[in-house]
Amino acid sequence: MDELSRTFLSQLAAHDPQAADIITREARRQETTLELIASENHVSTMVMHAMGTCLTNKYAEGYPGARYYGGCEFHDQIENLARERARQLFGCRFANVQPHSGAQANMAVFMAMLELGDSFASLVLKDGGHLSHGMKINFSGRYFKPVHYPLIYDASSPRFEHIDYDAMRAVCLEHKPKMILCGYSAYPRTIDFAKFRAVADECGAILMADIAHIAGLCATGAHPSPFPHAHIVTTTTHKTLRGPRGGLIMTNDEEIAKKIDKALFPGVQGGPLMHIIASKAVAFGEALQPSFKDYSNQVVKNARALAGALAERNYRLCSGGTDNHLMLVDLRQRDENLTGADAEKWLESAGIITNKNGIPNDPRPPRVTSGLRLGSPALTTRGLKEGEMQQVAEWIDRVLGSAGDAATCEKVRGEIAEFCTKFPLNAH
Ligand SMILES: *Cc1c(COP(=O)(O)O)cnc(C)c1O
Repeated sequence: MDELSRTFLSQLAAHDPQAADIITREARRQETTLELIASENHVSTMVMHAMGTCLTNKYAEGYPGARYYGGCEFHDQIENLARERARQLFGCRFANVQPHSGAQANMAVFMAMLELGDSFASLVLKDGGHLSHGMKINFSGRYFKPVHYPLIYDASSPRFEHIDYDAMRAVCLEHKPKMILCGYSAYPRTIDFAKFRAVADECGAILMADIAHIAGLCATGAHPSPFPHAHIVTTTTHKTLRGPRGGLIMTNDEEIAKKIDKALFPGVQGGPLMHIIASKAVAFGEALQPSFKDYSNQVVKNARALAGALAERNYRLCSGGTDNHLMLVDLRQRDENLTGADAEKWLESAGIITNKNGIPNDPRPPRVTSGLRLGSPALTTRGLKEGEMQQVAEWIDRVLGSAGDAATCEKVRGEIAEFCTKFPLNAH
């Protein structure tokens, strides 16, 4: 644990022992286990502590220079700093740093660009999309009309389980959606933003790229940038971008920027989380450093190394591999009775944190699944490289091969706790 956290927690222990104890045990859990959830990361000490500041005390409804409350001088400055750095990082003209989360960033875009009942095109959740891309139980599916474009489901195709761009074009030309969404939660391949834009232009739609997962890679060139192709880019700030939990919306179009600002506040949100915006500024500052480019490149190399090591152990990787920070493992080839739910549970008991995930055309229900989603961002932050990915694959295979045998999981858990001492958290 970093020095600041240690000092804080010892003081909190005197003030509120119950809360301090829970937080301390969570810190210990993070330190002694391997985080392979593709949407998670470990923030730096400075990003973490920028959240714990007096900026939380202030109401700053509105935007810099146009607030509804007095006393916002420094709130304007910190928000402008975050906006400037976001624009520089992604090479765009306008940034709104106020969304509390990725889902709220998306909600603001829907509210800004669509009318109730308007249609939009997206990838369905079970193929790797996000719930805010048109699931019935989400605002996006309840108040708007999603039409979905497919992956290539023909196993004999060299692009099996990649986006079917021809079918995407056909779906869009048929339904003429007002907006086309690309960017996903469980898609391991490079997204061709230019192809999406060409289709958007052809059918008069707006292109929205939700780069929540790959933002850090896009910012550093480890994945192609959505600009200048996308009209609107949304993202989270806490995944590969390695900032505090939050959202961000960007565009190059001034008219769209105005609409989005209004839709987010007062349309969707009230007062912004200014302490989180301060932390976003710090995180964007880190992401602008050359070392973050090295980090992003290593994220991709590590994902590739892990995917390769699993493939050697007879796991099938959906789409045949990975181009980015994540992979979707189809567990059935290794063992046809192995489910995502069991794998997640067994691995957790061995100190390997993952999430079960449906795979394209998964015959099993969402609470069971045949897949496991694995990502390299958090382990890369800890300092693991390709060589250590071999070891991680070996542990995963040992646990799954033992069908969650208690003695095996216990043994691996011990080995991992020992291993973790060599890769301390908050060293960056
Ligand atoms: C994670 C994610 C989001 C939502 O982020 P939250 O901060 O959890 O609301 C939106 N879109 C995609 C593609 C994501 O992966």
